[in-house]
Amino acid sequence: MPGPKKYPSAKTIAKEVSKTLEELYPETPIPLQHSDSYTLLIAVLLSAQCTDERVNKVTPFLFAKANTPLEMVKLTVGEIEEIIRPCGLSPRKSRAIHELSQILLDKYESQVPESFEDLEALPGVGHKTASVVMSQAFGHPAFPVDTHIHRLAWRWQLSEAKNVEQTERDLKVLFPKKIWNKLHLQIIFFGREHCPARQHNPYSCPICSRFGKAKLFEEFDSAVKKKSK
Ligand code: SF4
Repeated sequence: MPGPKKYPSAKTIAKEVSKTLEELYPETPIPLQHSDSYTLLIAVLLSAQCTDERVNKVTPFLFAKANTPLEMVKLTVGEIEEIIRPCGLSPRKSRAIHELSQILLDKYESQVPESFEDLEALPGVGHKTASVVMSQAFGHPAFPVDTHIHRLAWRWQLSEAKNVEQTERDLKVLFPKKIWNKLHLQIIFFGREHCPARQHNPYSCPICSRFGKAKLFEEFDSAVKKKSK
């Protein structure tokens, strides 16, 4: 049987995972550059299906033209689209940015609302985006789960969920609320540094070597066998 011989409970794995991540990433700077809750909201919206690195290259140009809802609505959707094109999905994202800025102006005195419900009612803002803003702009406990965290939770045997919503619920049960915000960033940092998209060695990984699913080891072993034939 490949991989660890005996697995502890999900609760114990969770404790060990958070201990390891705390050792590896004691500091968790917010990856998306921003100066307030509005610029963070826009940056998070732009980061859908795009890397934070690319968003950070684009936002200085956008925010130099408009870093408030009032300035943003003065730009046309086409002008916004032109600037944010490198982030992908630019027709949809530019429309959402323009529309949500108008709503903030009309309904919230240009402020970003501090509630999941109000945030999720804004165009282009789903639960994950709202969670990042609630957590990183306002410090409310949230656990934004994207496909990367979903996959890692499965690989580390923290969740068997088939979708991000259920994974979020599972992780919230396993980890204490007070560490959610930091842990979310630590998992992202770990994934970026250690989990390449293509095949890699689970035996040498600081977390999977101890808690990784047997399937990961089976896949790795059979790929190694194939190569050596
Ligand atoms: S073995 Fe791979 S998937 Fe698992 S945590 Fe390590 S790098 Fe990520």
